[in-house]
Amino acid sequence: MTIRVWDYLPEYEKERTDLLDAVETVFESGNLVLGRSVRGFESEFAGYHGVPHCVTVDNGTNAIKLALQALGVGPGDEVITVANTAAPTVLAIDAVGATPVFVDVRADDYLMDTARVADAITPATRALLPVHLYGQCVEMAPLERLAREHGLLVLEDCAQSHGARHRGRLAGTMGDASAFSFYPTKVLGAYGDGGAVLTHGEAVDRELRRLRYYGMEDVYYVVQTPGHNSRLDEVQAEILRRKLGRLDEYIAGRRAVAERYAAGLADVAAATGLVLPALADGNDHVYYLYVVRHPQRDTIMAQLSRRGITLNISYPWPVHTMTGFSKLGYAAGSLPVTERLAGEIFSLPMYPSLPVDVQDTVIGALRDVLTAL
Ligand SMILES: *Cc1c(COP(=O)(O)O)cnc(C)c1O
Repeated sequence: MTIRVWDYLPEYEKERTDLLDAVETVFESGNLVLGRSVRGFESEFAGYHGVPHCVTVDNGTNAIKLALQALGVGPGDEVITVANTAAPTVLAIDAVGATPVFVDVRADDYLMDTARVADAITPATRALLPVHLYGQCVEMAPLERLAREHGLLVLEDCAQSHGARHRGRLAGTMGDASAFSFYPTKVLGAYGDGGAVLTHGEAVDRELRRLRYYGMEDVYYVVQTPGHNSRLDEVQAEILRRKLGRLDEYIAGRRAVAERYAAGLADVAAATGLVLPALADGNDHVYYLYVVRHPQRDTIMAQLSRRGITLNISYPWPVHTMTGFSKLGYAAGSLPVTERLAGEIFSLPMYPSLPVDVQDTVIGALRDVLTAL
């Protein structure tokens, strides 16, 4: 038997009737694109967050890209973010013609080191793009202060943090806009691709609706300024509506897995140098990923793999070290914490329907491997 880091089949098993009903609801509705389900999900996802506007799109990458465009970020602008993220964060900045600027992350919680942001600001800086990584939020107060002082926009990358709270505020409600992904593995995942942007701004909402629909508004078939085809599919929207009603349950399920891991590993972790996830001050973690760290990561993963447990690394190559971003000119060693973490982090299996016996198998195997190092 192989244990995978993520699997949707146990959830599908439980929710099958509801999910198939969602599909049938759309097929019988007589409207397959931008219909009742997309409108319904947008209003419900905005309502969950207490934010006035939600515009759905086809995936999380395009949520970031269209949000940047709608906020007016483009060529010549610099956007400050991190290199310890999914490449799409940076691809989206690149796609609008802006320049990504990286700050290092903190060694304890792997989140953007907000103390380094001020030094990265130049006259070309237009926006700050914090990534709420692995399921917990970046410290927002310093970013909000810098944004006010320098007239910068704040776009939150919430692809990994649906339902996470920071000092009581929900991820996605704190910036000028926020981008979500509903890729199947995410805390709120579709059965295919999906994404959304939340914003407090009426004008940003309007621009996003135009950008996702070829650049057309009011008069169909007339492009005002060129846009994209970036619509969320009705079937995915209806599935997401059903699953949004269970988001808080999913989060509770993830927290229960995290607690079981922590309880089952704490003593051996302390004795062998395995670093368990740290909760940053003021955060409620939703555990999109359960990321641990050890200097002998590769040996540990190889030995677990031999026992049928295949784990993931998020992310093994920091974005600034990728060939595709060599044009940004970051030398090896320029983001020392990010680079060191990339060689040590790995993720344990994490999803709300992860069976308890599988959690215990993972704990047991990891304990054995660590003790025998
Ligand atoms: C998943 C992810 C994205 C991209 O979302 P897609 O739906 O896969 O395009 C962007 N940023 C982060 C941090 C992500 O984890």
